[in-house]
Amino acid sequence: MTPPRYFALVPAAGIGARMESASPKQYLPIAGKPMLQHVLETFAASDAIAHTFVVVSASDGYIHDLMNAGIHLASRVTVLFCGGATRQQSVLNGLHEMRQQVGDDDWILVHDAARPGLTLQLIDGLIDVLREDAVGGLLALPVVDTLKRADVDGRAQVTVARDGLWAAQTPQMFRYALLRQALERTKQCTDEASAIEALGLRPKLVAGSPRNFKVTLPQDVALAEIFLKGFS
Ligand code: C5P
Repeated sequence: MTPPRYFALVPAAGIGARMESASPKQYLPIAGKPMLQHVLETFAASDAIAHTFVVVSASDGYIHDLMNAGIHLASRVTVLFCGGATRQQSVLNGLHEMRQQVGDDDWILVHDAARPGLTLQLIDGLIDVLREDAVGGLLALPVVDTLKRADVDGRAQVTVARDGLWAAQTPQMFRYALLRQALERTKQCTDEASAIEALGLRPKLVAGSPRNFKVTLPQDVALAEIFLKGFS
């Protein structure tokens, strides 16, 4: 039996409405190149990753130039023009398109295009913890702030205990067949782990990093640049 391999799947078919930019969020330049290029180059440089698939919308007019500009992308990354209406649908469409190249027990690392701070060390750390795991898991960070639930007037109604709470990041890493089954069964989810949880399974939480945050609002770009350019 061949050991399971590791594949990256990057959903990049969103429009990033909260960013209020002219181009889709994943193509915004950060530290000299599009966010998505940082992500794809990191996976392409990883010895652990057999191959990377990126899901874009059928009408995407940016990915061609990015693939030509990026380091080792042409041989290490396949573009799938099968983005869906939601992140979940984009991931599921990507899993269907990858079918011929992956086995049921191969691991899939699903990673947001909007998290350009991913590093080789974070990928290796996740794989090291999960390679023998029966379920799989995800990078995440323990919540450190005190949490408030707001009422309709934007006033704090109640303080929510933060004990045991983690903020989910990506990559989220599950075996191909389990992940596909979970996403096909779940009506609506914003990450892969919640679809797995809905099957009654418990994904392992693996410590991520603040630098792996999701670039969402216009002011996030400056923070991402600080992380990507390094501290001096
Ligand atoms: O919008 P948000 O930041 O939550 O999106 C997370 C990731 O999912 C991004 O990489 C985005 O491009 C992707 N996405 C997608 N298809 C959609 C919506 C979002 O691939 N329909």
